[in-house]
Amino acid sequence: MRRVTDGSRPPRAPSPRTRVRRGADRADYDPGTVRRILDAAMIAHVGVVTDDGPLVLPMAYGRDDDTLYLHGAVANHLLASAADAEVCVTVTLVDGLVMARTPFHNSMNYRSVVVRGQAREVADPDERLRALRLITDHVVANWDHGRPVSDADLRRTRVAAVSLDEASAKIRTGDPVDEPEDVAGPWWAGVIPVETRFGAPRPAADLAPGVDPRPPFAVPDGVGR
Ligand SMILES: Cc1cc2nc3c(=O)[nH]c(=O)nc-3n(C[C@H](O)[C@H](O)[C@H](O)COP(=O)(O)OP(=O)(O)OC[C@H]3O[C@@H](n4cnc5c(N)ncnc54)[C@H](O)[C@@H]3O)c2cc1C
Repeated sequence: MRRVTDGSRPPRAPSPRTRVRRGADRADYDPGTVRRILDAAMIAHVGVVTDDGPLVLPMAYGRDDDTLYLHGAVANHLLASAADAEVCVTVTLVDGLVMARTPFHNSMNYRSVVVRGQAREVADPDERLRALRLITDHVVANWDHGRPVSDADLRRTRVAAVSLDEASAKIRTGDPVDEPEDVAGPWWAGVIPVETRFGAPRPAADLAPGVDPRPPFAVPDGVGR
């Protein structure tokens, strides 16, 4: 288990249920590592136990210090089930396909985070607004560049918060790990890197006359995250 810290706070011990058991040498419980992976990724998979069984759905998210925010429509089934209930939030970045001498040792290089805990429905108007801005600006900061949110928008939207107190990161880097007797064999082994690439912004076909076709906010350039 790595115990590195970004210096801003001490390493955090895992809870019994977030302690990585398989591949424990790839675990990292440092809050800074968890925050960096959450900031680099775009999509969380949010798991809840609903009345009709377990449900995991992809969602956008935002982060404020050690709190993760989710949002959706008031009618959202998953968020309604998550309100003041236990959730599991998973975020994954795939960095490479690891091709071993035998397919049985193929793997992936990745950075992932699992957060477990009680979701809290956010009722405070100021916290709701801050959370919605964070979710909106998580990948591309455009909250300040669109139509301001209305009371109707806010009434229709549910916001949930999940503490990062119970979180683990797991990171794999590097080459395949083959059996020693296979390494001298005639088979190819190596890593195929995987990257997220942002393209050039494409203005909407129905952009109003006079609106600058270039976005007014900073767009990630090329390969990122
Ligand atoms: C990249 C991405 C980001 C998203 N971000 C958000 C977000 O920030 N907030 C938000 O509210 N929603 C987001 N969604 C949509 C989200 O995944 C759900 O579809 C939506 O929240 C409705 O949830 P629900 O529980 O009300 O679904 P319901 O419509 O009640 O789900 C009923 C059934 O539909 C199926 N279903 C629902 N969603 C999906 C899906 N995404 N893919 C395949 N099958 C599905 C499942 O079988 C589910 O059991 C995002 C989706 C993607 C792909």
